[in-house]
Amino acid sequence: MSAPTQTLDERTLLDRVQAPAGEGREILDAATREVFGRAPVHTVADLDAAVAAARAAQPGWAALGHERRSALLHRAADAVEAQAEPLARLLSREQGKPLNGPNARFELGACATWLRTAADTPLEPEVLVDDETGHAELVYRPVGVVGAIGPWNWPLMIGIWQIAPSLRMGNTVVVKPSEHTPLSVLAMVAVLNDVLPDGVLTAVSGEREVGAGLAAHPDVDKIMFTGSTATGRKIIESSAGNLARLTLELGGNDAGIVLPDADPQAIAQDLFWGAFINTGQTCAALKRLYVHDSIHDDVVAALAEIAEATPMGRGLDEDSVLGPLQNAQQYDIVRRLVDDAKARGGRVVTGGEPAPELGELFYRTTIVTDVTDGVPLVDSEQFGPALPVIRYTDVDDAVASANRLDAGLGASVWSSDRDEARRVAARLEAGTVWINQHGGLHPMVPFGGVKGSGYGLEFGVEGLKSVAVPQVISG
Ligand code: NAD
Repeated sequence: MSAPTQTLDERTLLDRVQAPAGEGREILDAATREVFGRAPVHTVADLDAAVAAARAAQPGWAALGHERRSALLHRAADAVEAQAEPLARLLSREQGKPLNGPNARFELGACATWLRTAADTPLEPEVLVDDETGHAELVYRPVGVVGAIGPWNWPLMIGIWQIAPSLRMGNTVVVKPSEHTPLSVLAMVAVLNDVLPDGVLTAVSGEREVGAGLAAHPDVDKIMFTGSTATGRKIIESSAGNLARLTLELGGNDAGIVLPDADPQAIAQDLFWGAFINTGQTCAALKRLYVHDSIHDDVVAALAEIAEATPMGRGLDEDSVLGPLQNAQQYDIVRRLVDDAKARGGRVVTGGEPAPELGELFYRTTIVTDVTDGVPLVDSEQFGPALPVIRYTDVDDAVASANRLDAGLGASVWSSDRDEARRVAARLEAGTVWINQHGGLHPMVPFGGVKGSGYGLEFGVEGLKSVAVPQVISG
């Protein structure tokens, strides 16, 4: 349980977690498509053992108390910081995201920040009644064993969002990483386990059946799930069996509305990164942009200029800030949606085609305009580097368009008049509405979706409450 203070090299870290040669499942470098590691394939029997270990470890972990658990979470953050560079390199190879820009190194920085914030956030008992009628207070107890099921786009950061508050509140955790990005998550869990007691945190790396097994497990008390809406619905069905409490962070199709008084040049960089962070593979990225007719062409031109000047390439190249799609299925979705938009009269302002000279899964940064609601590139989650820009003339229509889909993770309003932007924001159906930015997160500000984007909150005090059970002490 003592963390190496020296930074390990990437290969040493990988060898700690990967399956022996000839075993496991091959994992490809997302940019080069070369095999770079082998993921252990755990079975449902391994899952049962992990849940049993988590159950056995939970009372002792809870009994340590907040102060000692918080101290261990700080040490865990130190350990992640010490191994941030090899973890970022592993993540870059497996996920495809560049080291630089708001990508792999940024993701490791966020892991340490969210660990420390979960450690430091107080959650005091709430006194509900304290008068001549009596005394009642609400305290927050651990739920028990938390199953943490994650996606492949921000596998480490989202893993920490699930793990850190759960551990802080005295739960033990079984992690099921995405089958697309198991090695970086296993490596991060190994680093955390250099400081955590045995059984408190276990990762089970397997296919979708292992996720389904974890969600349905009779000895799991809470599921933290981040992934697609379709899988979220299946998890809700499983919870009818085990009554597990759920936090569901599901898909998004975030709209941005640019009001006529916005300054296209002033907002263009933030609009661009709101849409293209992690090469568009981000749940709360800007996925459809509604721009007022009077400035539409200027906004489109400014976005296209940035798109053309922003380097895309292999993640390990220090110059790259955009990368490939992580997997072939996602690449096919993006290509199909853009081709379909073109066939329906959409105008490709820049991009609009694969970038084979960069590698198999690279798709050029794409801006498509002359599209309307109803075009699949607008109506479904593209989750890649292709932004549809839709022209509007009446802000009421733009608000109706933004609200018409069954998704409600984030949204944004762009304007030089903050009061007007806030009035429009209040009309949008989304868990978060940003003004003159899109996608910025803070570890103390709750984050979660509405409608098809799921329910439950992460981060801050609300995030701690969601991995606890409230208990009333009365009398
Ligand atoms: P996915 O739903 O395909 O997979 C997510 C995880 O669920 C994987 O670990 C998978 O193995 C597991 N899984 C699959 N079937 C399961 C089942 N029946 N029961 C339990 N677990 C099961 O999602 P993905 O393709 O990895 O991620 C992309 C999606 O995630 C996008 O829609 C994106 O918007 C969403 N996402 C949301 C957020 C958010 O915070 N709201 C963040 C990131 C990604």
